[in-house]
Amino acid sequence: MLDLTYDAPKPKVIAGARHDWELVIGMEVHAQVASNAKLFSGASTQFGAEPNSCVSFVDAAMPGMLPVINEFCVEQAVRTGLGLKAKINLWSAFDRKNYFYPDLPQGYQISQLYHPLVGEGEILVDMEPGVARLVRVERIHMEQDAGKSIHDMDPAMSFVDLNRTGVCLMEIVSRPDIRGPEEAAAYVTKLRQILRYLGTCDGNMQNGNLRADVNVSVCRPGQYEKYQDSQDFAHLGTRCEIKNMNSMRFIQMAIDYEARRQIAILESGGEVVQETRLYDPDKNETRSMRSKEEAHDYRYFPDPDLLPLEIEQAWVDEIEANLPELPDAKKARFVLEFGLSEYDASVLTADLANARYFEQVAAGAGDGKLAANWVINELFGRLKKEDHSIEESPVSPAQLAAIVRLIKSDAISGKIAKDLFEIVYTEGGDPEQIVEERGLRQVTDTGAIEAAVDEIIAANPAQVEKAQANPKLAGWFVGQVMKATGGKANPKAVNQIVTAKLGL
Ligand code: ADP
Ligand code: MG
Repeated sequence: MLDLTYDAPKPKVIAGARHDWELVIGMEVHAQVASNAKLFSGASTQFGAEPNSCVSFVDAAMPGMLPVINEFCVEQAVRTGLGLKAKINLWSAFDRKNYFYPDLPQGYQISQLYHPLVGEGEILVDMEPGVARLVRVERIHMEQDAGKSIHDMDPAMSFVDLNRTGVCLMEIVSRPDIRGPEEAAAYVTKLRQILRYLGTCDGNMQNGNLRADVNVSVCRPGQYEKYQDSQDFAHLGTRCEIKNMNSMRFIQMAIDYEARRQIAILESGGEVVQETRLYDPDKNETRSMRSKEEAHDYRYFPDPDLLPLEIEQAWVDEIEANLPELPDAKKARFVLEFGLSEYDASVLTADLANARYFEQVAAGAGDGKLAANWVINELFGRLKKEDHSIEESPVSPAQLAAIVRLIKSDAISGKIAKDLFEIVYTEGGDPEQIVEERGLRQVTDTGAIEAAVDEIIAANPAQVEKAQANPKLAGWFVGQVMKATGGKANPKAVNQIVTAKLGL
């Protein structure tokens, strides 16, 4: 496999009133496992179901109910760990994180603090072709989601919907290796892409199935490098955590606001207080939500209802053997196999469905580069106009491959190909048949082109004189011939014949 090498992007520097500052960001991403049943009960995880219709006695924390672990969820977390090249811990355990919340009937969340299922991994965060940052993943643990309190349905009452209670989340914790707002968004984008390739989380941020807590601090240039070498957090500034972000744009805006807020505090001689903050997109500011709790505030302890989770290496190996080709490998293969630019390969592999579609076109057309051009420029452009996804494309890979083949064999010109594409897009049909039926085939018969050129030269003596004095004007004749042939003449042949006949 081709190994693409990367330069590290520069960290974002913000100039304060006194001096320069750099950003340091660490993310805790909560990804909902794509499972039909919850982590410790058989209740459904269906999104948008009637409130409180997907709640088992376990989820409602009825006395005496016992959690039973869902093997499928564990498998998805292991798959995710392997996809992030992480260490899988064959022995892990569940802890209770105690706190009160109206939508948490147990009075605690089952999580994994001391012994997470997945240890250290990594994510290559792409910035632009040839530039990427390797962000280290510290751990991935499994935990339950809480329910939802609804405050805006009634003026006097609040409601609680427990459908989400007990749904399996993977918390993916990064090291503070992210160095700017764009990198933070790119990190979430890449993580989401990998999860979707693996099929372990659908990545739907709008539904809250993927959301990020963003930890932000600022430091003087050079401090991060000291941390990186020593793992000593004392080199870094105090961080604030911005909770529950589910939009790439807001993640960037919140980080930028928060960094500037901290810089203003530090430059005026104050101290940043470690706390949890909320981002308000309407005002574009972060607001204090609560001071940061320490682990002991939650009185974590091993959940006595659950045995430690022991899994076998053979099972892990089997899951690993069945991993799909992941984005980095696919991108590198597209560059190598089809001769694509890294940029085009990134666009095509951003989404698995796009990548699959492209590969089918490339195979059918026998030309990966031309196929990539048509998929990216024509098809994606056209789909975007109507806000359609690739799954909704009215043009099938086989149809697009046929169009590309017609161009490749010089049967139609590039211009006619665009018309043909539009016909296939709006009316459907077999491209080859359409070309024959509507007489779109390019005229490569030089006799016919010569006749057309002769006719136009004879009818326009003044233009001939001008073109002979200034060869740049020969283009006018080419245009006339194209017009006369309804755009079907092979432009290359027309050019040659015009040049020859004018004696240029
Ligand atoms: P907690 O459990 O209290 O949330 P963690 O040690 O698990 O604390 O860290 C949570 C997140 O904060 C991690 O993603 C980590 O990378 C990030 N983080 C830690 N220190 C800093 C810092 N100084 N600046 C930015 N992010 C940080
Ligand atoms: Mg945390």
